[in-house]
Amino acid sequence: MASTRTMQRSGAVESWRKFAVVLLFVITIGGLWYPPLGLVAAAMMVVLLSIAIFRGRYWCGNLCPRGSFLDLIMRHLAPGRKVPAFLRSLTVRVSILALLMSGLVYSLATLPLESSPEIIGGIYGLIGAIFVRLCLITTIGAVFLALVSQERAWCAVCPMGTMTNLIDRAATTGRQPTRGRIATNAEECRDCGVCERVCPMDIPVRDYLEEGEISDPDCLRCNACVIACPTTALMAGTAGDEGDGG
Ligand code: SF4
Ligand code: SF4
Repeated sequence: MASTRTMQRSGAVESWRKFAVVLLFVITIGGLWYPPLGLVAAAMMVVLLSIAIFRGRYWCGNLCPRGSFLDLIMRHLAPGRKVPAFLRSLTVRVSILALLMSGLVYSLATLPLESSPEIIGGIYGLIGAIFVRLCLITTIGAVFLALVSQERAWCAVCPMGTMTNLIDRAATTGRQPTRGRIATNAEECRDCGVCERVCPMDIPVRDYLEEGEISDPDCLRCNACVIACPTTALMAGTAGDEGDGG
């Protein structure tokens, strides 16, 4: 069940995740009164897309404020049902991404050039308000999906997650795979399937055992499968690190 999943990360990452949950509330709720806070969300979008080039969905699994909120809080409320298969279809995901991105671009393109003095932060407040709205809508969607499925159900359709998935695919094409993937060793596997039961992204982990790494672009690098595996068939974040100093 999703609710019994254990996540083990470094102390610094765990501390960031707790701080990130507070940050999520500060941006989504505080941003309603002080819209420039939305610019923090915009900056985080840039950071996560940059990380995706080198580490795929590492941000999603370890640093994302909403992902941290889902893991630390919503997992206590989620019924632990499987995410409906259609939500994982790339067509549905790209459509959601296109819809939200068009809304974002339209809102930014139609901003009044002369901002009203009543708006806190002027033009920064107007831009920030767009990102606060985006954060609020997506967080409500994430809470809803967690309440009817499992805590990370949102991560199957999250537009930022879809974007990092696409970046990971593009970064991998014809080049070295992105770093920090879960390494696999087929010889150690007992075929118990526990890794697949705990995976928040329903990744068929055993299909990757012979490959030497989990190359699925939706892998969050959250280590839940590594922790759950009773053998050394899975190793955290080491695949792809050799020879590049990463
Ligand atoms: S395959 Fe393992 S590391 Fe990747 S998302 Fe699933 S549980 Fe997390
Ligand atoms: S949890 Fe480990 S031993 Fe069990 S099926 Fe997965 S990789 Fe194999």
